[in-house]
Amino acid sequence: MFEIDLRYEQLMQSAKTYITKKESLSIIEKAFKYADEKHHNQFRKSGEPYIIHPLEVANILTTFNAGPNTIAAGLLHDVLEDTGVTVYEMTQEFGEEITTLVDGVSKLGQLKYVSKEQALAKNHQKMFLAMAKDIRVIIIKLADRLHNMRTLKYMPKEKQVSISKETLEIFVPIAHRLGMYRLKSELEDRCLRYIDVDEYYYVAGLINEKQKEREQDIAYMIDELEALLDEYDVRYEIKGRIKNIYSVHKKMREKNKEFSEIFDLLALRLIVKDEATCYHVLGIIHANFKPIPKRFKDYIAMPKPNMYQSLHTTVIGPNGKIFEVQIRTEEMDNVAEYGVAAHWAYKEHKNNSAEQEQVEIQKKLKWYKDMVEYSENDEADGIVDLMKDDIFSANVYVFTPNGDVLDFPAGATPLDFAYRIHSEIGNKTVGAIVNGKIVPLTYELKTGDVVEIKTSKQSYGPSEGWFKIVKTQHAKNKIKQYFNKQNRNLYIEQGKDIVNKALEGKVPNVMDFLSNEEFLKKFQKQGVNSLEELLYAVGKKTISIQTILQKAENEDNHFDVKAILEHFNEDKAEEKIKQHKTSDTGIIVEGVDNPHIKISKCCSPIPGDDIIGYVTKGKGITIHKKDCKNIEDTNNERVIDVDWSKNLEGKKYEVDLLITAFNRNNLLTDVINSINTIGVNIVAVSANVNKDSTASIKVKILIEDAGRLNHLVQNLKKIKDIYFVERMTK
Ligand code: MN
Repeated sequence: MFEIDLRYEQLMQSAKTYITKKESLSIIEKAFKYADEKHHNQFRKSGEPYIIHPLEVANILTTFNAGPNTIAAGLLHDVLEDTGVTVYEMTQEFGEEITTLVDGVSKLGQLKYVSKEQALAKNHQKMFLAMAKDIRVIIIKLADRLHNMRTLKYMPKEKQVSISKETLEIFVPIAHRLGMYRLKSELEDRCLRYIDVDEYYYVAGLINEKQKEREQDIAYMIDELEALLDEYDVRYEIKGRIKNIYSVHKKMREKNKEFSEIFDLLALRLIVKDEATCYHVLGIIHANFKPIPKRFKDYIAMPKPNMYQSLHTTVIGPNGKIFEVQIRTEEMDNVAEYGVAAHWAYKEHKNNSAEQEQVEIQKKLKWYKDMVEYSENDEADGIVDLMKDDIFSANVYVFTPNGDVLDFPAGATPLDFAYRIHSEIGNKTVGAIVNGKIVPLTYELKTGDVVEIKTSKQSYGPSEGWFKIVKTQHAKNKIKQYFNKQNRNLYIEQGKDIVNKALEGKVPNVMDFLSNEEFLKKFQKQGVNSLEELLYAVGKKTISIQTILQKAENEDNHFDVKAILEHFNEDKAEEKIKQHKTSDTGIIVEGVDNPHIKISKCCSPIPGDDIIGYVTKGKGITIHKKDCKNIEDTNNERVIDVDWSKNLEGKKYEVDLLITAFNRNNLLTDVINSINTIGVNIVAVSANVNKDSTASIKVKILIEDAGRLNHLVQNLKKIKDIYFVERMTK
């Protein structure tokens, strides 16, 4: 147990160098005791007590000057995953902030990564970054990985290789993006040693061979520089650079360069007190050593995306040797070594809140901002809600079948996913497959799920119940839009029907007449500016046929408005009588009298559907829907144009509907009542309760046309718990 005390002592000492508040130090102490107790009797592969690992992770975090909560989370980082402690219990003990950090680290740990292809690795990195809303989670995870790499020798050989590969493909690029150069270099070198041990020692040998010679050259240059800078009275510090075996290896292998080409460059780093001095020193150097053209870079004025700042120049030094000189301030140097983690050394102790911290980090890390803000082409006022609900609370990350990552708020369902892909996919959704298994639409997405959406062209689109299933504002807006559009179209269709029934044959070219601009102006007060809007108003019954006729009365018309008005009621009565007339199939085939016509059973078209005829020798013509899956090629010579006759009053057609709903009492009754209310005949009903507590109801009805069917379906979709209505095909 001596080992544990020693490491704990080291941790506290290291923390005390920059954390002074007593309460802060006692949070760390409390976290250590808690973790020690919970990991009691657990051991690592090395045989050491488990607590050594979190202690070392916390130790690494102190090298970044991490705050007390981050260190505490580092100590607790495996408690949720590896002991029986729950999120609730930890929150009770340590509060929300620390627990959220630990939970974040645990969730990252659950992401399974299998090295496959570059694209997948990229997605995985993205997922990692997106999941850790709080950058501290990533830093704890990186510290965890660093310690695991330091103790990898205790793992079996295959594990050593696979963990090293994962580290190179996922963790190293993330460390790079965060500018954590020092951690990145150590990870890389350790990985190379496990993946290609011969190469590792070969490159290390080459570096060491040259080292002596280099050190002499550098010492000589340092002498010259010191003399110069003292002359100008500049305060400075000269630093060497840590060597990174992996980066030399990579340049040799990938760029196919000789070792001498890569390692010939001698490098020096000058640390000065402020930004102005950086440029001052640059001036002194350029005045005394010949700079090599095009090698000067000003990363102070234009920082790298990972926040790196420095001046770089390459000059010809004493004895004609070429030197790269980097000039920067202490803070810039820290950022260069520790990247985003360096931020704490300068900011965290200025009493910023966690939110202010995030804002600052996001400001600095452009990529982080870009990643968090994904653009949506929604109306401007919805954007704020979208951001709030969908992005800042995002914590579920799922894959599309192509491996793209999408993020959702907790509780989001496959419907949210479908609408995120495309609103048309959302509208036509009839099912979802998650990780290869069919799931109900109410399924809550979990991080790592691979989600596939089943759509059907025959689907009648969203039902009212969908509002309860979706979680994102985006999906809600899209469903709302659908209903608005749907209702509008429905009213326009109804308006057209009413106008046609009342005025066709009486007013010549009735639609042309109504769409006349001068005439439409008379309805401006009612908010009508187009034919469509007029028909919509008629359909909604806010403008009557009588009103239209009255407005037409004083016009110079080609028809007698008064006469139409007088006969108006009479005609209505006549209309009813007409409805009793029947025709056999209601299909017209151009140029053929009394053709032998059969309506196909596979897609059961009804008036209003787009149809085609299919000629079968000796059997006549079968009528299919244009989009029937049994008609592959509509250009086939057996396919002919057909149309619905206009005199169909009274004729009814069979339609099969499949209704999917969440099963509950009275569901079937509600369905039957809804159909009965509008006077549609039910021929047969069957219902089935599925394993996932959904119910499938099949209804066979007799109905006049597609318009009426649409009306029926819209009513059905208003019933609570109904998810989809589909027209069945065979
Ligand atoms: Mn760990």
